[in-house]
Amino acid sequence: MTPNHKQAAEAVRFIREADRFLVVSHVNPDGDAIGSTLGVAWMLKQLGKEFHLVNASPVPAKFRFLPGAEWIRSPEELRSAAPFSRVIAVDAADAERMGEARSLIAEDAQLLNIDHHATNDRFGTSNWVVPDAAATAQVLANLVEALKLRWEKPLAACLYTGLLTDTGGFRYSNTTPAVLELASHLLKQGVHPAEIADRVMETMTQGQLALTKRALDTLAFSDNGQVGWMWLKRRDFEEAEASEDEMDGIVNYARNVEGVDVGILFRETEDGAVKVSLRSREKVDVGELAKSFGGGGHARAAGCTLEESPEKVEQMVLSKVSDALKRGSS
Ligand code: 5GP
Ligand code: MN
Repeated sequence: MTPNHKQAAEAVRFIREADRFLVVSHVNPDGDAIGSTLGVAWMLKQLGKEFHLVNASPVPAKFRFLPGAEWIRSPEELRSAAPFSRVIAVDAADAERMGEARSLIAEDAQLLNIDHHATNDRFGTSNWVVPDAAATAQVLANLVEALKLRWEKPLAACLYTGLLTDTGGFRYSNTTPAVLELASHLLKQGVHPAEIADRVMETMTQGQLALTKRALDTLAFSDNGQVGWMWLKRRDFEEAEASEDEMDGIVNYARNVEGVDVGILFRETEDGAVKVSLRSREKVDVGELAKSFGGGGHARAAGCTLEESPEKVEQMVLSKVSDALKRGSS
């Protein structure tokens, strides 16, 4: 990672000079969002600070074993404690990503934005954004050091979870020597890698299995097999008795097919919009592509939400992906 002493010092000052914090991450949280939210909580706890944790979506069941997961509340549950004037946002590329949790934040709040998305728009009053970090959890490991905190096991387990999930189990191209050195350091604190991997990566719920079957049934290809896409409609969630968080990972089935560069999962949301998840092997920068539709993410994993009919969204996205492939952009 590039040196970021200045941002680290600013983050340390931000935390030292106040006593009460709201920690927030993005809607539909993944392992890095939950692991980072809890990682910050364990740091604030060690410092004896008051902290409140919020997420606009429920904590996915597979992350509820993480130490402190029960501290994460819904915006509604925290309404009476609001507004918060000191906020730490983790793994959120823009303010919109915090969803309903935004309503708890005072208008003149000081907000520390810690993230690793290249598309981050620096929405904080302080910003520590490291696009070449594999996970926000990796940036937070630097914060632990900068604050001179003890590496407690719960803290290590939460950051390990973020690192593990955002690297796809240490398989994606963001798996650098520094990532594996940090993973090694975290394991030395007593983290159980097999238990965490089993809970967050290996275990498939019945709902997830039912959704996967339905999604695979819709798998279609274009551009000489370089693009593969799938659909999940509202009916699929109802009939599979599955929740939104159980579609995590399904998009990979499209991208993993031999010859596919861009894998796409289109999902109808409860409010009639379409959420698009994009994954790429090497040719297309899907982060930039998602950004052009008002979303964002990373070069190899990104997303956006479009308020158009399913047919229109499919046509718009596929045509842009096709153009990007023809340009040979990366
Ligand atoms: P997923 O497809 O798993 O929801 O998201 C993949 C990546 O893209 C994650 O890093 C996620 O944070 C980012 N992402 C997904 N949807 C959006 C979006 O609507 N806006 C932005 N800025 N990032 C998104
Ligand atoms: Mn992340």
